[in-house]
Amino acid sequence: MLFDLLERLSSLTRAWFRQHPLLADLQPIQLSALVYLARCNRYSNTPLAVTDYLGLTKGTVSQSLKALEAKGLIAKTQNPQDKRSVHLELSEQARSLVAAVTPPAFLADAALRMGTQAVELEWLLSDLLRNVQRNEDVPSFGLCNSCFYHQTVNGQPFCGLTQEPLAAHEVELICWEHQFPLSPEELE
Ligand code: SF4
Repeated sequence: MLFDLLERLSSLTRAWFRQHPLLADLQPIQLSALVYLARCNRYSNTPLAVTDYLGLTKGTVSQSLKALEAKGLIAKTQNPQDKRSVHLELSEQARSLVAAVTPPAFLADAALRMGTQAVELEWLLSDLLRNVQRNEDVPSFGLCNSCFYHQTVNGQPFCGLTQEPLAAHEVELICWEHQFPLSPEELE
């Protein structure tokens, strides 16, 4: 039943994106890469992280990233601390595009109609995702403010893994390095 519901909502979302006039020139995988890059932090915008997040092969993702670059939607930049590492930045055009199509209007409208029930549903779905991530061998890609390494130093957010300060807006972004804090059972 749960699977049927998730599958139906996914297919409605895919169909909504397919029919959106602003997305006529984008393949679904290209849109998925853009949506991820719009939501991830500066440690997670590499081709490898995109590949891991989408769960596809390196070759497929690489082709899609090349196509996005050719359309002027992403640009490659180098990490000043590690010249071999390539990072992917969204262009302003891409940011506006993602903002215009996410969340899909049909879903946002339904959530508005549901009111507080939609907030409760979001919590439950987050719990479901966390449960899967804790118990299966899958990367977590969680939000920074729920990470084991998340700290506050001198009143500012700080990453205990990279030992770098974080900007306020970064605590709500997706991170490739994210790790959930240990559960009470794991601490025993
Ligand atoms: S605190 Fe965790 S989620 Fe946040 S940047 Fe560091 S490793 Fe990533």
